[in-house]
Amino acid sequence: MVECCGRWGGDAFSVCLHIMSTTIALDRDLDILAFGAHPDDVEFSCAGTMILMHRKGHATGVVDLTRGEMGTRGSAKIRAREAQNAAKVMGLAARRNVGLPDGGVEITKNNIKKVVALIREFRPRIILIPHAVDRHPDHEHASRLVREAAFYSGLIRLSTTTNGEKQTPFRPEVTLCYRQSSDIPATIIVDITSVFEEKMKTVFAYASQVYNPKAKEPDTVISRPEFIDNIEARARAYGSRIGVKYGEAFYSPNPLWCDDLMTVIPQKPRMM
Ligand SMILES: [Zn+2]
Repeated sequence: MVECCGRWGGDAFSVCLHIMSTTIALDRDLDILAFGAHPDDVEFSCAGTMILMHRKGHATGVVDLTRGEMGTRGSAKIRAREAQNAAKVMGLAARRNVGLPDGGVEITKNNIKKVVALIREFRPRIILIPHAVDRHPDHEHASRLVREAAFYSGLIRLSTTTNGEKQTPFRPEVTLCYRQSSDIPATIIVDITSVFEEKMKTVFAYASQVYNPKAKEPDTVISRPEFIDNIEARARAYGSRIGVKYGEAFYSPNPLWCDDLMTVIPQKPRMM
């Protein structure tokens, strides 16, 4: 047990003991699909929202573009196991890895087609992607790669196949960018107070990456205890913006639809 786990119920690492399942059956279109450059990006940034959406009955999934093999700690194999454990906590209906090179997420026609094929397979109404500005080049490239793919996915003349069958065009209705290392202008802040402890379980699912006093591998930005503090501080800061304890922020590159302003008023009392 690492020191900072105790604050999240003391059983944060128990998630690592769950039986792995690398194949999760999918029998319906997804409502929400989150893309990350590396396994753990979605968890560190917007796992609370993913857990919340699952609990509200929406079908959710994650696509990791790389296996995280360039990480200082752990290995691609360990990251894959940790990603599956985190998927269980989030209640994902699907999780895929595109297998692009870590440190080499490039916006090429071939890579766009790979992402288009996944969007057409899962047909998500909302996609969550990294924000376009971030310290890690893979995150910035992933943002643009998925945004371009989401547009091209709607073009009938762009041909893709899955299992030998021609796919039909599909374009997600809403794209939201999540925050990683750089602050973002928040268009929407999701109240994740009710699932914050579960979110932290997905963070600690990546035991090879986050703080562990017994680890022998070199320190990284993520492996320092301050990183865990920062995740909480960020959630508290965004939560305070909407009068709740914990929040996750998203930026919408496009205006969001509304035909009743009353629907944007919170359903529960909050401190403002
Ligand atoms: Zn990353």
